[in-house]
Amino acid sequence: MKSLYAGPVFEMAREQFHVIADHLGIPQDDRDRLLYPKRAIVVSCPIHMDDGRQRVFVGYRVQHHLTLGPAKGGTRFAANVDIGEIAALAIWMSWKCALADLPYGGGKGGVAVDPHALSMRELENLSRRYMQEMIPFVGPRVDVMAPDMGTNEQVMAWFMDTYSMYQGITVPEIVTGKPVGTGGTLGRREATGHGVAFLSFRALEALDINPVGATAIVQGFGNVGTHAALGLAARGVKLVGVSDHTVAYHDPRGLEVRALVDHVEKNGVLLGWSNEAVIDPRSLLEQPCDVLAPCAVERVIDADVARRLNCRVIAEGANGPTTPEADRVLAERNDGIFVIPDILCNAGGVVVSYFEWVQDLQQYFWSKEEVMDRLERALDRSWSMVVARAKRDGVSNRTAAMAIGVERVRKAKQARGLFP
Ligand code: NAD
Repeated sequence: MKSLYAGPVFEMAREQFHVIADHLGIPQDDRDRLLYPKRAIVVSCPIHMDDGRQRVFVGYRVQHHLTLGPAKGGTRFAANVDIGEIAALAIWMSWKCALADLPYGGGKGGVAVDPHALSMRELENLSRRYMQEMIPFVGPRVDVMAPDMGTNEQVMAWFMDTYSMYQGITVPEIVTGKPVGTGGTLGRREATGHGVAFLSFRALEALDINPVGATAIVQGFGNVGTHAALGLAARGVKLVGVSDHTVAYHDPRGLEVRALVDHVEKNGVLLGWSNEAVIDPRSLLEQPCDVLAPCAVERVIDADVARRLNCRVIAEGANGPTTPEADRVLAERNDGIFVIPDILCNAGGVVVSYFEWVQDLQQYFWSKEEVMDRLERALDRSWSMVVARAKRDGVSNRTAAMAIGVERVRKAKQARGLFP
């Protein structure tokens, strides 16, 4: 099938899917239906800039399937976003939601813009305009957005407000990841990173490594990376490396996580924190550590990097950080690097987004203890299923996780028919 999604990230999602489809023996005629998105929307978002000019930004939204419920997924603001990347991210959301047994299909959206280059007012204009353009295609039962790279709670508040103004009533359940106090849930901000740390501890346990004194490297120090680092440090893991898009630091004696977080809160980026610990970002991932947590962008662990890795656990906080070629290298290395695949490792975000949506629909809010307790139980369920399946079938954790997700979506499609 000729595809408008062609590009390296979509190709990666496609290749991963075919590995699973081969493993599950899915016939060819069923594959296109499972893989290709139900809908893709491309919009122009014209806004007024502070200097009086008009500029047009291109926005995307992909709804992979609606078989199990509304599409669910984040909105990414990044300069190089394109429709293929968004489609791949939507597909991964589908397998992730199905693995966590949530009543959702996969969705993802984005705007091709560098959010750091916008003023606050321009960012608000763009966020509101993007949601305005999406109004005909989204809804609490159709497609529920959330934050992703380059967007945050404030952007979600603008999305919710724009949709609500159009409806004439407050509709908090249209997006998740909103500020607490406007329909957001306690625990959503830290949910993804907390889940990354929580599952890293499960993996360390499985490898018989004591977290106290174990070491970690975290790539990406935004929402996911900071909370992963804080969660790891809370149980005695020493952060020896960290990076964002501006700089990378490495110090085998350990980096002070709280001080790094304070620096980023004040300055927006890691740059300027230290001159001594600076390291070439390309070599950061290859430094020795127990837990390597890529929490930034796709395809950072390719075959070359995979050959040089020096870690025991890869905790995939980001979506799609490891390429299929790297997966093959890791399998060949045969030295037991334990991979916690993205659709399991970073599922804490969508699990708590689901909790937020449920609370909004019921207008009944839970305590933070309740949220975190339910989150950990949900992650534990998925973890046990994936580990058991990998062992039973003699396959990688990624194959096991994706097989569970793909199977669930396929079963629902088979039971329902061709429509959804
Ligand atoms: P964010 O915008 O809050 O932070 C992104 C971080 O990555 C920033 O520190 C940025 O400087 C850094 N970064 C960007 N490019 C980099 C590069 N080439 N090298 C090193 N660092 C780089 O985004 P986020 O919400 O933390 O999302 C990070 C990843 O986690 C994305 O892949 C996203 O899809 C995934 N994810 C996020 C959530 C969530 O709840 N936010 C949930 C699941 C998955």
